[in-house]
Amino acid sequence: MSELDRYIRQTLFAPLGEAGQLKLLSSSVLLVGCGALGSHVADRLVRAGVGRLVIVDRDYIELSNLQRQALFDEDDIEAGLPKSIAAAEKLRRINSQVEIEPRVADVNYTNIEELLEGIQLVMDGSDNFETRYLINDACVKHHLPWIYGGSIANYGMTMTIRPYQTACLRCLFPEAPPPGSAPTCDTVGVLNAVPATIAAIQSSEAIKLLAGVSQLNPGLIHIDLWENTFETLKVARRVDTCPACGSASGGFEYLEGREGAQATLLCGRDAVQIRVLPARPLSLPRLAQRLQFAGDVSFNEFLLRLRVDSYEITVFPDARAIVKGTDDEALAKSLYSKFIGD
Ligand SMILES: [Zn+2]
Repeated sequence: MSELDRYIRQTLFAPLGEAGQLKLLSSSVLLVGCGALGSHVADRLVRAGVGRLVIVDRDYIELSNLQRQALFDEDDIEAGLPKSIAAAEKLRRINSQVEIEPRVADVNYTNIEELLEGIQLVMDGSDNFETRYLINDACVKHHLPWIYGGSIANYGMTMTIRPYQTACLRCLFPEAPPPGSAPTCDTVGVLNAVPATIAAIQSSEAIKLLAGVSQLNPGLIHIDLWENTFETLKVARRVDTCPACGSASGGFEYLEGREGAQATLLCGRDAVQIRVLPARPLSLPRLAQRLQFAGDVSFNEFLLRLRVDSYEITVFPDARAIVKGTDDEALAKSLYSKFIGD
């Protein structure tokens, strides 16, 4: 048996062929976010046979995720698993040839460049502009391609970004929408086929790009699965004025930490993430002992959960926490300092 046998349906496809497959098998991809888009992207890329996949996600699995997110099931919720860990376990059973590296972390300006080491391509599975602008800054700085994806309600979009060759995300959207102005899946929901379709387009773009074939998406693909429309819009590079890839760029605002918050409202979750930068290690068993009289505490090797009043505070070993039961960032911060520390 050759290591190529399992990919026969791909190698038979002439434009890819064995030569393309061999390139895929030696590729290295970073996936940022493993939710609705990311879990489908991971599934496609691991089945297609990328060489190495690093999966970073900051969250754990909840029941309302199962409507649209691949790879997860009710047992994972029962076990209190973070998304990247549960995804890695499934993906290793799907294709043991792929080197899969799960990371439970918030991707931010302190760690993104380290995550990019040895990476050829970044896949966007995130759900917020701050993270996407950060990916854009890091990829423009290091001349790395990345594939943007977004989905909400009945529509979604994706763009394949090759810095200095195509438009980047800030050529398309120079500034983030003001907080509260853009629809979120929190307020308008999402049909499950929308992220699955966008992720499928992102994944085939990734396969083409990694295999070195040139038929890449030339613009912004916008799909609407309720109205059944599929359009590709041209996006021009802002060669002079783009804040990231333009000649007058004053640096990488998101990568330098000039933009970004310590407390972040999580999309669709009635929850706020509190992060500590730079991350510092925290002993979950020791924290559990300290909190034993504060409320109902449980923990595993990946996270600790404290239930107190109507809140559920989940703490990770990098001192990050997700405070569930509020969308008030100030309240979440004060609960964090009360129970976890400053
Ligand atoms: Zn640009």
